[in-house]
Amino acid sequence: MIFESLSEKLQNSLDKLRGKGKITEKDLDLALREVRLALLEADVNYKVVKDFISDIKARALGSEVLESLNPGQQVIKIVYDELTNLMGEKEEKLNFSSKPPTIILMCGLQGSGKTTTSGKLAFNLKKQNKRPLLVACDVYRPAAIKQLEVVGEKVGVPVFSMGTNVNPVDIAKAGIEHATKNGNDVVIIDTAGRLHIDTDLMEEIFTIKNVTNPNEILLVLDAMTGQDAVNVAETFNEKLDITGVVLTKMDGDARGGAALSLRSVTHKPIKFVGMGEKLDQLEPFYPDRMASRILGMGDVLGLIEKAQASFDEKKALELEKKMRNASFTLDDFLDQLEQMKNMGPLSEVLEMIPGIGSKQLKGLNVDEKELVKIEAIIKSMTKKERSNPDIIDSSRRQRIAKGSGTSIQDVNKLLKQFKETKKLMKKFNEFSKVPKKKGKFQ
Ligand code: GDP
Repeated sequence: MIFESLSEKLQNSLDKLRGKGKITEKDLDLALREVRLALLEADVNYKVVKDFISDIKARALGSEVLESLNPGQQVIKIVYDELTNLMGEKEEKLNFSSKPPTIILMCGLQGSGKTTTSGKLAFNLKKQNKRPLLVACDVYRPAAIKQLEVVGEKVGVPVFSMGTNVNPVDIAKAGIEHATKNGNDVVIIDTAGRLHIDTDLMEEIFTIKNVTNPNEILLVLDAMTGQDAVNVAETFNEKLDITGVVLTKMDGDARGGAALSLRSVTHKPIKFVGMGEKLDQLEPFYPDRMASRILGMGDVLGLIEKAQASFDEKKALELEKKMRNASFTLDDFLDQLEQMKNMGPLSEVLEMIPGIGSKQLKGLNVDEKELVKIEAIIKSMTKKERSNPDIIDSSRRQRIAKGSGTSIQDVNKLLKQFKETKKLMKKFNEFSKVPKKKGKFQ
């Protein structure tokens, strides 16, 4: 769950206003006091919090909000608007050069996720029919070049390297020449990171910047480091005039401080967020959708995009047909589970549905392990059993339970659920076949 604690606290304090027929200035102050505390606890920069609260208060008092018919809802809308503004209003896309190759310089501290993000970005661009080249300029950590090569191989993107005995500035220049010769239209330069900000490192990246004249200078920051990330961003921005930020590890338990403070402090946009270790887990950053998720209002557009990217359209059509004639099998069920898994952790998917905020999610008791169990049970069945579960007698049930490391009760439960779903589908189909009577409204 994204920014779980912040999200829960904000929703709790705003819930108190929701549905109230009348809100006094005192009610508003009380709620905003809680909002302020929630933001500070999430490690949002104190000045950002101060401005944020006073902007909300001014808007709430300035307009006719408190006197309106649904003042609670209006205040929530203002908080949503201001949260969106805080993170940058709209999605900021990458700048591409009109004269390829486009140069993207990646920078950041060690461990922030820079190499992984370079690979993710290359993968992302490849999906957009670009021909990226990764350039390995971290010559200080011998394993860094190898790491980039491994990442490059995984996403099917070439990696240019010259070992560790060459000056990174020369590697960057040679990398760009290589790209021009080989028709690579985007060059992603992975530079060295250090544990702390270091003047030598800064000078080196500064020189690489001057020599390569990049279209994008992306600073990779670990969202879990909160205010520290913001301080790092300020220093890098002063020296390099970065063009954007990639905030990684948003899938972890980041409190939100970095995401909510970065824009106001550096005036630079967050362009992408890292949502996991896998190379397809880089997403464009949409401030409005993020604000909506934080306030428990879901993210329908995000959900649709996720589904479109994860589900196979052909399979979906086949499944629909099978559902219509109730001929779908446990194999189809397994297939569905696998496609659903592609969408990411179940709690994250559910959270994108409007109305399912952090509070509701707790109540739903989402148990990822249940899905793993179901998968194991179906996988322990033979092909024949999957297409015709009626043949699964008690000795087969015993074997399946043993094979999947579950209990007979678990197997029974799944088979019962499956049977009931099929029955329901049959009923539904019969019902939908009944021709509609023409009423007077038709
Ligand atoms: P670098 O030193 O900055 O190049 O960092 P790496 O790319 O080696 O990443 C450091 C660690 O963070 C690795 O274990 C990555 O798998 C992990 N990592 C990177 N991005 C993400 C992310 O978005 N989510 C999670 N959970 N882990 C990430």
